[in-house]
Amino acid sequence: MTKFKDMQYTRPDFAAYMTKFKGYLQELKNAQDKETFFKALLAIDALSRNLSTLYTLVSIRNSINTKDTFYEAEMDVMDENMPQFSEIGSTMAQICLDSPFRKDLAERFGAHLLEKYEIRAKIFKPEIVEDMIEENKLVTEYEKLLASAEIEFQGKTYNLSGMMPFMQNTDRSIRKAASDASWGWMASQQDKLDELFDKLVKVRCRIAKKLGFANFIELAYARMTRTDWDYKAARVYRKQIADSVVPLAQKLYKEQAARLGIKDMKNYDYSLNFLSGNPKPVGEEAELVAQAKIMYEELSPQTGEFFNLMINQELMDLTTKPGKRGGGYMTFLPDYKVPFIFSNFNGTSGDVDVLTHEAGHAFQGYTNRDPELSDTADYTMEVAEIHSMSMEFFTHPWMQRFFDKDTEKYYYSHVVDALQFLPYGASIDELQEWFYLNPDATPEQRRAAYREIEKKYLPHLDYDGNEYLEKGGRWQKQAHVYAMPFYYLDYTLAQVCAFQYFIWDMKNHEEAWKSYMHICKRAGQIPFTALLKECGLDNPFEDGCIAKITPKLEQYLDSLDKSQIH
Ligand code: ZN
Repeated sequence: MTKFKDMQYTRPDFAAYMTKFKGYLQELKNAQDKETFFKALLAIDALSRNLSTLYTLVSIRNSINTKDTFYEAEMDVMDENMPQFSEIGSTMAQICLDSPFRKDLAERFGAHLLEKYEIRAKIFKPEIVEDMIEENKLVTEYEKLLASAEIEFQGKTYNLSGMMPFMQNTDRSIRKAASDASWGWMASQQDKLDELFDKLVKVRCRIAKKLGFANFIELAYARMTRTDWDYKAARVYRKQIADSVVPLAQKLYKEQAARLGIKDMKNYDYSLNFLSGNPKPVGEEAELVAQAKIMYEELSPQTGEFFNLMINQELMDLTTKPGKRGGGYMTFLPDYKVPFIFSNFNGTSGDVDVLTHEAGHAFQGYTNRDPELSDTADYTMEVAEIHSMSMEFFTHPWMQRFFDKDTEKYYYSHVVDALQFLPYGASIDELQEWFYLNPDATPEQRRAAYREIEKKYLPHLDYDGNEYLEKGGRWQKQAHVYAMPFYYLDYTLAQVCAFQYFIWDMKNHEEAWKSYMHICKRAGQIPFTALLKECGLDNPFEDGCIAKITPKLEQYLDSLDKSQIH
């Protein structure tokens, strides 16, 4: 029951770790019997968990207080020394695949582990190291460029996220001016953004070729350990979004226009949802955590145990303060078998999202806290987000405690935002497929391709003559396209699964919760689609899945008290 503040950190002796890793790898390779083989394998795993615990301690403490010079220096040491260990994983995978005990490994830990090792071995060769460094550099350059934005607005200078509040202003002329200023900055960087992306496409295609993949799409899917679906399956899935979600989303945009009293909605009007403001939680950290404690105790014995542990061991750092890094995340400390939640509470509904979404991730980590071999519990991102996004819905019955008079508004915007996100997510995925199937396209052709795709998924958008957007520039602000190719669809897939839990939970809570517990425990042991089957969820890649969901969500929205939503 160690509290976070009492968890001891001393700088690891990296050379000694490396010597130990190499010794165990030798033992693994030379093992004459399966006992020796498994012993070496588990020793490598224990050592990596240990190193990862130390790394995570440093990174959490550094993000909580960036002014703490001790952890700042330790973070630098970690960043310098950790990359040398990344090769241990692929060497270990290759030894396992070539081993006479390969079959025993599959018997003990499941066949999916070998599929993961095969992929791990396939996506790396020493010949691509230079290209990978270049790819990372280009991504960093993109991130730096966007972070460097200085936008003059109403006599002050803002970065891109600093412009957000103006984009949601109830005064239309301020929204328009803010949107023009923001996109104007993007337009002024167009050449640089094009150049960076062009180089990224080239280097990614080169890496794929060197590794023997037919194109970069296949490599990108392998990098994300997607063993059971490909981009052809993604097409069937996206078509369902176009057919079933787009019409409903359009209807909801019309509701928004009526609510705001605007007849000719422009792109800059859509970020304002309610004239009375977005749903706001009541109270600060202490009140919200106290409510969450009651909520999780009532939801199930397991969630109660989990949340009390988070409180008692002080495993959450929630409120924003000077020197604290921005954003929020959930991470895991393997040696202590506990999760940690980091966030920046600021009085918006995002605070409650931390207590449902990040806590959903953390709850999954807690239920699966001690796998015999870490690699078996390693899951793909579409699975990870099911844990968190579904928890947002399982906790719906308690939202009155957080939102009081804004509760109906919260319910409405939670479901509507999630629904309207799907077409945008699909547009970003379809665009990336086009990029890598047409690697020689010019920047103008890329933009034109996006504008066409956008018209299919987001037909309501009227850019009011903004040239950069009219010509298809919007995707350049979506960092995932530059930094994490093909990742974006995972959010939408998980959302579709979370919707299924939402509908199931309203019908039969007991059954839905049992299935959710199972999806938390089994994550990583079998592929995504097999996991869905085992948990009684419909497979989003099978035609008809989404058409079953949308009418139920529409029914739910109709059941809300509209007099509270304005
Ligand atoms: Zn998440």
